[in-house]
Amino acid sequence: MPELDRWDGGPRSAIVIGAGVVGLSTAWFLQERGVRVTVVDRAGIAAGASWGNAGWLSPGLAIPLNEPGVLRYGLRTVFDRQAPLHVPATPDPRLWAFLARFAAHCTGRSWTRAVEANLPLNEECLEAFDVLAANGVDAPTVEAPITAVFETAGHAAGLLAELRRLREAGQEVDATGLTATELVARLPQVSARIGAGVRLEGQRYVDPGRFAESLARSVVSRGGTIRSRFAVTSVRPHPHAVAVQSAAGQTLSANAVVLATGAWLGELGRRFGVTVGVRAGRGYSFTVPTDHPVPEPVYLPDIRVACTPYRGGLRVAGTMEFRKPDAPLDDARVEAIIASARPFLTGIRWEERTDVWVGSRPVTPDGRPVIGAAGAPGVFVAGGHGMWGLTHGPITGRLLAEHITTGKQPEALRPFDPLR
Ligand SMILES: Cc1cc2nc3c(=O)[nH]c(=O)nc-3n(C[C@H](O)[C@H](O)[C@H](O)COP(=O)(O)OP(=O)(O)OC[C@H]3O[C@@H](n4cnc5c(N)ncnc54)[C@H](O)[C@@H]3O)c2cc1C
Repeated sequence: MPELDRWDGGPRSAIVIGAGVVGLSTAWFLQERGVRVTVVDRAGIAAGASWGNAGWLSPGLAIPLNEPGVLRYGLRTVFDRQAPLHVPATPDPRLWAFLARFAAHCTGRSWTRAVEANLPLNEECLEAFDVLAANGVDAPTVEAPITAVFETAGHAAGLLAELRRLREAGQEVDATGLTATELVARLPQVSARIGAGVRLEGQRYVDPGRFAESLARSVVSRGGTIRSRFAVTSVRPHPHAVAVQSAAGQTLSANAVVLATGAWLGELGRRFGVTVGVRAGRGYSFTVPTDHPVPEPVYLPDIRVACTPYRGGLRVAGTMEFRKPDAPLDDARVEAIIASARPFLTGIRWEERTDVWVGSRPVTPDGRPVIGAAGAPGVFVAGGHGMWGLTHGPITGRLLAEHITTGKQPEALRPFDPLR
């Protein structure tokens, strides 16, 4: 049983449930503030969405999912198994209730609110990676533009208009339109089908698995404990302590607990008044060798595929399917990504793919994550970052650690109140 007395009014110890990028970042920044941390995960480090994602650290593209256009697109393709956005024909009433709420938030007003809420996170997110790197987290972030490619200049104009709306909302965006000739000169992989592009400067990328593993090593080297195969089934708050129990009957206690369980947040969160709702928006990725090196991340917005230079080849990521986070990998979704991307890229050896992976983005209906105090003393929540949990993971950890240790909600976290 750890010491559970209070220290300067803040907790001495914390248990973080979930060893994804959000949980590990929170643990690391809690350590910065003198808190002893134990991170538990039902599987292991980066066992959820934090391993096979596209690795983009992209504040300039952190567009909330609840765009009005997504609703129109979703309604057109809703049951199409080949479409990038897929909802299975299932009788799950909770899923349909979630999707109805999501649809209600696909408005210009709600989207702008999410964009404005993200501004402080976007502003500081890269600096939070730099703090980690400067303190021994050994996973270099690479500065590079992201180039979005399109069949026509008309389609490129759509993204430029969206980026303009982001800029109007206050987001710094440095984007330039490119002709097909300019694109080919830069990116040998674009095929003759590509007619226009948009280059977004000032972004970065990282190997997300290496980043999570390195962050975990750093947490341990600073005195933290990480326990794998510890599936939390109950969280019970007591005065000055919270007890956490595993499926195997083991119990741990600490002054504070952080629920950072990604797409699995729904059930545990609801017990503490977090009714915003988090559902799994599952995405797939794989790695392919390329005939020539790919110099920078490439985005195919029309088919919603993200490609990132990765260990000498290319990581290709895409699709959003609203299934349970533990549903098995569906090969048809991987085939659908390849069928949609193949006409636009050359020199990619699709048949030699490895690392085929599925992971669950934790999606909220209003496009805003849930970060802050839950409805019981000592219980906090960090999750629901949807498509941008890697970009926003470290800054989330930094702000939440401030909240937990000072007892004061940082201004930047107000829009993300888990009890909203
Ligand atoms: C295909 C794809 C591409 C993406 N690309 C990008 C990108 O380029 N840039 C970006 O910023 N974001 C990207 N994302 C989103 C990003 O990956 C997620 O938002 C982020 O990883 C979420 O991190 P997390 O720590 O909240 O959740 P997770 O990484 O899912 O971690 C949650 C952890 O909780 C554990 N857990 C769950 N329940 C329990 C329990 N009861 N007890 C104990 N442990 C439990 C799980 O095992 C898991 O390890 C992408 C996602 C996908 C799927």
